[in-house]
Amino acid sequence: MTAAGPVALDVRGLSKHFGGVRAVDDCSFIAPKGKVTGLIGPNGAGKSTAIDLISGFKLPDAGSVVFEGKALQGLSPHRISRLGLIRTFQTPREWRELTVLENVVLARWDESRETFWRGVLGLRQAGREATLSELSEARGILQEFGLIALRNERAGNLSGGQKRLVEFARIRMAKPQLVILDEPMGGVNPVLGERMALAIEGFITAGTSVIVVEHNLPFIERVTDHVVVMSQGSVIANGPFESLRSNQAVVDAYLGEMPTYEQPGA
Ligand code: ADP
Ligand code: MG
Repeated sequence: MTAAGPVALDVRGLSKHFGGVRAVDDCSFIAPKGKVTGLIGPNGAGKSTAIDLISGFKLPDAGSVVFEGKALQGLSPHRISRLGLIRTFQTPREWRELTVLENVVLARWDESRETFWRGVLGLRQAGREATLSELSEARGILQEFGLIALRNERAGNLSGGQKRLVEFARIRMAKPQLVILDEPMGGVNPVLGERMALAIEGFITAGTSVIVVEHNLPFIERVTDHVVVMSQGSVIANGPFESLRSNQAVVDAYLGEMPTYEQPGA
């Protein structure tokens, strides 16, 4: 694909082999700035490994990743996140001992400190007080995500879907240039689907480009501007979701019958 506008992420020839398994194999794609890019493919296609390579959690055997014009080769996950590229994991990660509000406020601080303090200290002990403007911004985000009533709850006590929403609230607070979401709907009550979709639209409005890996294809259709399809480590197709329905390689590899998105209650 050739991107018409500015590019958030440019992945070229990325490869990672585990013994004889070509988990990621000459994978190339572009994520445009200000858009939602879907990354789909059957189980084992290499999506999570590709995310690990992009975000510095694994070292590629070959290939390059350019983020906002900067090559990421060899940078640690901390350095990459501080450049403004944040990724989530298939299981939400929150500071279980801290409150929902503390979790969101702390997302503004740099990642290395955040990891250091993770799960150990409350806000007051974490080196400095949150400023009033940080607190009011965090409260505003919690309001928007329907989490304000839970602000003083320990994050560890929340349901899977609520934890995912807190993670999304943390992303809004951190305001990265790009976020990569690995199966955000996994383990989440489908009723929350529309709220998650609106949250992703909110990321774009706030200036954060999005890459989303998800098995829930109706959700992918609902939220993405275009979709990259991986199979056996490589990209086999990309384009608007609608265009994939008639793509034989995609149908053969994976998609088959594709349902359409229905808003809950519609
Ligand atoms: P996806 O996220 O698309 O389901 P993964 O990236 O998790 O795919 O896995 C791609 C392939 O690489 C699979 O065959 C998987 O078993 C293999 N794989 C992933 N991580 C490792 C690892 N650490 N060691 C060995 N094989 C791995
Ligand atoms: Mg995966």
